[in-house]
Amino acid sequence: MIAANLEAVRQRISAAALRAGRDPSTVRLVAVSKQHPLEDIEAAMAAGQLDFGENRLEELWPKVEAARVRGLTAIRWHMIGVIQSRKTRDAIGPFVLIHSVDRVKIAQRLSRDAIAAGCIMDVLLEVNVSGEATKHGFTPDELRSVAGDLLALPGIRIHGLMTMAPFEAEPEATRPVFRALRMLRDELAARFPQGDWRELSMGMTNDFEIAIEEGATIVRIGSAIFGARSE
Ligand SMILES: *Cc1c(COP(=O)(O)O)cnc(C)c1O
Repeated sequence: MIAANLEAVRQRISAAALRAGRDPSTVRLVAVSKQHPLEDIEAAMAAGQLDFGENRLEELWPKVEAARVRGLTAIRWHMIGVIQSRKTRDAIGPFVLIHSVDRVKIAQRLSRDAIAAGCIMDVLLEVNVSGEATKHGFTPDELRSVAGDLLALPGIRIHGLMTMAPFEAEPEATRPVFRALRMLRDELAARFPQGDWRELSMGMTNDFEIAIEEGATIVRIGSAIFGARSE
C-alpha cells in the first residue's frame, strides 16, 4: 500500500516536472510521517524513501530515538512544523533541514542554541504568502527587511524559503501563492547574493503538482503516501 502510493506520487512528481520542462531529479520528496508509526516509515524506506518530515518536536524526538534503536540510520529527518520560542533548544538535533523558521526571534534563538551545542543548523525561512491569519511565517515585506540580519546569524545556514498554500478545492487556485514565493526568492537572491536561496519547499498532497510547475525543489507529502490522518 505505502510502496504503491509512493510509486504513484513519484510518477506524478516526474510528470509535473516534465510538464514544466524541469529535470524530475531536481524535486526532492519529503514523506510527511506525522501521526503515523515507525512501521510505516520502515515500509516507505523499503521502497527507497529516506527523507521524512515531522511537524511536532514532541513526536519527532521519540521517533528519532526509536529509529536509532532499530538501526534505521539512513533516515534524513526534516522538521516542518511550528517551533515555540521556548523550545528552540529541542529543535537542535540530527535534522537535515528545519523548514519552519517563521520569525526573527526563532531564528535568533535557534542560532544561539546551535552555537551553544557546537553545530550549525540548516534552515528554510517560512513565508506567509497568502496573508491568512491562521498561517505562520514572515510576511514578504518583513522578510525583505530582515533577510540581511538573518543571513548574519552564525548558528543557522539559510538555504531558501518554505510556504503552505491555503487549502483549495481546486488546486490550480494555489498557483499564485507558489509563484509569489518563487519571485520573492529570486528577488532575495539578487539582493543578497551572499546567501544560498536555492530551495523552495512548497506543495503538499492537494497541490504539489502546481508547486512543482512553479519551481518547488522540495515537496512535503503526507496523506497521499501514508493515508488519511485523524486530525
Ligand atoms: C502535514 C503537513 C504536510 C503534509 O500534508 P498532506 O496534505 O498530508 O500532504 C506538509 N507540510 C506541513 C508543514 C505539514 O504540517
